[in-house]
Amino acid sequence: MGKNLHTTTTAVHAGSRKDDVFGAINEPIYLTSNYRIPTDGTPVDWSGIHSNIYQRNRNPNQMVLQEKLCALAGADDAAVFASGVAALASVFTTFLNTGDHAIVSEVCYSATNLLFREYLPKKYNIEVTLLDTTDTEAVRKAMRPNTKLLHIETPGNPTTGISDIDAIAEIAHQNGALLSVDATFASPITIRPLTHGADLEIHSMTKYINGHGDALGGCVMGKTEFIDQIKELAMVNYGGILSPFAAWLITRGLITLPLRMAQHSKVALAVAEYLEKCPAVRFVWYPGLKSHPQHDRAVQYMHGMYSGMISFDIKGDEKQHEKFLDSLHLITHAVSLGDVESLIVYYDKNSDKLPHYPAIYREGFFRFSIGLEDENDIIADLEQAMKTCGVL
Ligand code: PLP
Repeated sequence: MGKNLHTTTTAVHAGSRKDDVFGAINEPIYLTSNYRIPTDGTPVDWSGIHSNIYQRNRNPNQMVLQEKLCALAGADDAAVFASGVAALASVFTTFLNTGDHAIVSEVCYSATNLLFREYLPKKYNIEVTLLDTTDTEAVRKAMRPNTKLLHIETPGNPTTGISDIDAIAEIAHQNGALLSVDATFASPITIRPLTHGADLEIHSMTKYINGHGDALGGCVMGKTEFIDQIKELAMVNYGGILSPFAAWLITRGLITLPLRMAQHSKVALAVAEYLEKCPAVRFVWYPGLKSHPQHDRAVQYMHGMYSGMISFDIKGDEKQHEKFLDSLHLITHAVSLGDVESLIVYYDKNSDKLPHYPAIYREGFFRFSIGLEDENDIIADLEQAMKTCGVL
């Protein structure tokens, strides 16, 4: 396929193959656990990742998805896994060894936080510094001779803080360490970490990449030498592979990702601007707002599309917050994000996560994933719920 195609064209065509046997336009789902092995004396690499032997080594639906992801992210290679957490764990277990030190965003997805706060130090004696990676100088100061991995989340879940990928990549590389970036909150369309020096780009494909709330998956992208190591250890030998059916569903979702991200971003900006002016709102952070603490970085990194994630809080007490959630009609109170429909979750002030968050978050807040609905309908839903709970 031509290299200079526009993003929407790439999303449709990259990885697509025409079926020579039946002429099917869509890739079939290869529901087979094993493949015929040649009997011509060619040596068989039982743990290999470059031929079809067994579904855990490689399968065609994974391959199509990986090719489309690479074309969209500008990556050499990709590995896909059964969930975003499996993709994250594949990076941490492949590149960290006993005695190594890692620097990690302290505002990050809960499993990443737990892995670095508890499991990796206790089980494998890995040293960890959790810090605010939006503060580049703090990252620089935390480097040690044995620092092997810097792992950042940008935008961070749930605060939407933006880290300086170029600067952190330079710090990592000066010390021979790798930089991995979880860019789930942005999708590969609105942030491209690999073009800013990151070595590994990670996404929970459960979110924007699939987008339809019906499959879990995760991916890691980067240079072939890194991705091969990840596949050999984490795919073949730890085994958290993506099933052919989930790969097929996620490939179908990925086709519309550029269109969806444009709509998520347009609607989210309008909703964030509304919330910023609303007298019942205590605070709102959205990377596309000038008031966001790292708005300049968002402009630098996010290509004018700021994705669909907003964090905010309304005034009032806990009962009113509950009533607000209960009064929403279009917007659903549910975990996860990046779906076609708007989803909201509330972190109450007793949540054990809050101590690591910026001060304004510690009284509790909402994480809001804007769907593909019209902005006027979302704003009307928020407004009627704020009136019903008495804050407006
Ligand atoms: N990374 C981020 C930033 C996330 O928000 C999530 C899930 O919410 C994950 C990783 C984990 O993804 P999964 O639920 O697909 O394992």
